[in-house]
Amino acid sequence: MLKFKNISSGYNNIKVLKDISFDIAKGDFTGIIGPNGSGKTTLLRAATKIIKPFKGEIFLEEKNLANMPLKELATVMAVVPQNTAFMFPFRVIDVVLMGRTPYVKRFGFESRKDLKIVLEALEFVDALHLKDRFIDELSGGERQRVIIAKAIAQEPRILLLDEPTTHLDISHQVQIFDLLRRMNKESGLTIVSILHDLNLASDYCDKLILLNNGTIKSKGAPSEVLDYKTIEEVYKTVVIVKENPLTLRPHIFLVKKD
Ligand code: ADP
Repeated sequence: MLKFKNISSGYNNIKVLKDISFDIAKGDFTGIIGPNGSGKTTLLRAATKIIKPFKGEIFLEEKNLANMPLKELATVMAVVPQNTAFMFPFRVIDVVLMGRTPYVKRFGFESRKDLKIVLEALEFVDALHLKDRFIDELSGGERQRVIIAKAIAQEPRILLLDEPTTHLDISHQVQIFDLLRRMNKESGLTIVSILHDLNLASDYCDKLILLNNGTIKSKGAPSEVLDYKTIEEVYKTVVIVKENPLTLRPHIFLVKKD
């Protein structure tokens, strides 16, 4: 579905990603983890064509991303960026309608079908009741659900998210990730999300890619990636890893000094 082949990328002359290769299969729920500055956002920017690779190739459904027009890209891939603060007081329904832009002809208007898709997307994220509210007046959790509805309305086959729950409390974190998992399981949507919280990553993602210093330190199932030696080396923090009794996935405990 999404393949990075020997990608080196970054900004101006600064190489951030160094010879990165990985393959994300259709229907995978993959977490990108790693310390601050390890290159997670840069990887997402390369995958969304915001920055160009210095070297290597990226393939989306077997097509070379370099040759794919942005409008076509937007019919396959939707992105939920990190900072979703809106400067303008758009109505929720209009924000979600923006997700239909790749399908609307130039100078055209949204059709009844577009509106139906938008209302269904709002319903899916339990935000239909918010449709006439202004986005800048919503709580963080409500706003994030609306942004996800906009991504759903785009009818993508792959969804990329940059730390979608950063400013949310634990109940909203779980709500958003339950929602993502439902989209993954019910519609086979491929999901790639950057995550800060290693335990959230462990519980929800089927595969993890651990970045360190612009290279892939480890990738595979959470039980393969989250071993204490690797975590201690990469995060330079002492940890204990035990199995979560409910999810049977690794759970990381921090160890206090003294
Ligand atoms: P992460 O998302 O893992 O915290 P980033 O991909 O944001 O890491 O950053 C990786 C490196 O790239 C950092 O050293 C950061 O300073 C640098 N970087 C990020 N964005 C830019 C930019 N727009 N211009 C120059 N350097 C950048």
